[in-house]
Amino acid sequence: MPEIFQAVCFLPDTPGSRPCRVALESGGMLIEAAQGPNVRWPYPAIACEPGGDEFDWVFVACPDAKPGIARLALRNPEAIASLAARVGGPAHDVLAGFEQRRQRHARRGQRGLVAGLVAAAVLVAAGWLFLTRLAPDLVAGTIPPASERLIGQAAAAQLLAGEQTIDAGPAADAVRAIATRLVAAIEANPGYEFDVRLVKSDLVNAAALPGGTLVVYSGLLAEAGSADEVAGVLAHEICHVLHRDSLRQLIGRVGSGALLALVLGGGDLAALAAQAGELDRLAYGRDQERAADRGGVALLARAGLPPHALPAFFERLQARDAGRLPEFLSTHPDTAARIAELRELATATPVPAPRPLAIDWEAVRGSLD
Ligand SMILES: [Zn+2]
Repeated sequence: MPEIFQAVCFLPDTPGSRPCRVALESGGMLIEAAQGPNVRWPYPAIACEPGGDEFDWVFVACPDAKPGIARLALRNPEAIASLAARVGGPAHDVLAGFEQRRQRHARRGQRGLVAGLVAAAVLVAAGWLFLTRLAPDLVAGTIPPASERLIGQAAAAQLLAGEQTIDAGPAADAVRAIATRLVAAIEANPGYEFDVRLVKSDLVNAAALPGGTLVVYSGLLAEAGSADEVAGVLAHEICHVLHRDSLRQLIGRVGSGALLALVLGGGDLAALAAQAGELDRLAYGRDQERAADRGGVALLARAGLPPHALPAFFERLQARDAGRLPEFLSTHPDTAARIAELRELATATPVPAPRPLAIDWEAVRGSLD
């Protein structure tokens, strides 16, 4: 097993990552960064956390060390095993579990693996850029959801620029109440903080931005027959956030060239945010839509709301204007089959504790005129 290996490290207050040489010495690791400082981290003071969308990175930091190198990103299994043999406690468990985590996620197939590598690179770069430049106090937090959140906030600012938002009144209260009910029912939230913005618009649409910002267009409320139907759409969108679909779309849009620039430190946050601003017009893949549908039905049931509301709304939209379907219907060539599948699923999904929403839907619709 190697005593010396190459890795990637991040310096505080310096954009981008850089290569470094790591030597595992007795008592600690010596890190020599290209055009940067040499630092020594004692093994007992090392902290590790799994990273990357497919758990194929380990991030190593030494909170007690003198500043010089903020963190190290490892993905060489031999190097990780060597380090695991030298550290104890929770850091050891993270390192020792690397291979198992990686294999479990690699089995999802080549496509997922490639997306994961790209996502890992973006998260390493974006997380670092955002956290060090904009919110240094968040460094201690859970980096992937936190950096996604910041990307999402930049995207929301871009998306809402020039739009008139509805911030008070029956419609704003209703979407907030619906979102609050659904978010409270999420089974395993890895740290996303959801918020919902209502835009005054004739568009019948809703969008999920990375990190948990949900954007609802008031045309969707005007079209929905009940608060439950809006809850169905929001449950679907919340699942896109939890499945990181919009983040993946952003990665696809930023492209490998821009991505490489970002990883190497020349990336442009404004360009990233501009790409993110188009997230309301994204088309997800069919598998992503199906997963968001299924997750949405389960989330409705856990929230005490009728799962049939989701296919009911889809059906209403399909009947209304088949030629101009919003994102949540457009990527399914066979919308009728999708609705039938959802109806079957909704019938098979019990609602253990029904709790109807206390929303006067006619008042909400009336407030939009
Ligand atoms: Zn969708």
